[in-house]
Amino acid sequence: MPKNKIGECTICGQTSELTREHVIPKSFYGEVLPVKTKMITVGSCIACNQGASEDERKVRDLLGLEVMQYEHELTGYFDKKIKGNTNLGKSKVGKAFETQNRLKELGLVPSEELVLIENEVIQKVFKKMVRGLYFYFWHERLRNNCKIKTEKMKPVYEWYQLLEKIKSFPDHIIVVHGDNDEIFGCAGLRGPHPYQSQTRWFFSFYRKIIYITATEPEIYLPGPITDKIWL
Ligand SMILES: [Zn+2]
Repeated sequence: MPKNKIGECTICGQTSELTREHVIPKSFYGEVLPVKTKMITVGSCIACNQGASEDERKVRDLLGLEVMQYEHELTGYFDKKIKGNTNLGKSKVGKAFETQNRLKELGLVPSEELVLIENEVIQKVFKKMVRGLYFYFWHERLRNNCKIKTEKMKPVYEWYQLLEKIKSFPDHIIVVHGDNDEIFGCAGLRGPHPYQSQTRWFFSFYRKIIYITATEPEIYLPGPITDKIWL
């Protein structure tokens, strides 16, 4: 990674030597990466960058396993990636999936949802994405005293349906995507709050999996993310 100037880290706010961090993890895009100019990067300190890729790959495995249930065109790609990561002992989700498959083969009831396994990692990776996107679009850091929470949405909406819904909100709409809309989409809505840190972010992966991240100033008690106003 090329060395950059000294500055404020977008993620943690420390003044430090900065590296370029991909806001949307490269590993999320599948086989074909968007052209470089379409990939959003922000300045991040070495500490924040360290271990990030490993966490991102864990989340990628989780998304991949879900997408594979739909016989998506990226099924083969994910299968290969997840197996590789599992063999390296770096994917709890992949390991659980293997175990689940073995249980199925034995005719036993499969274990509970895999999603819970990496919840801490999911929260971490999404927090970083939201901090990066916030900075990229509004040229200021999301305040440190901000609560950031991510939840998976029930598969009620397809991405394009959700996007239509989002478009009906007049302000602060952002869409980020790869070369192909089918791979990745995201939208953020910033609330009118004076601290400018109340936002909703919609992340859609591979047209099937939707996560919602909300940020709230700490002094406000965050309400449920999936409230009726938004959905
Ligand atoms: Zn940092």
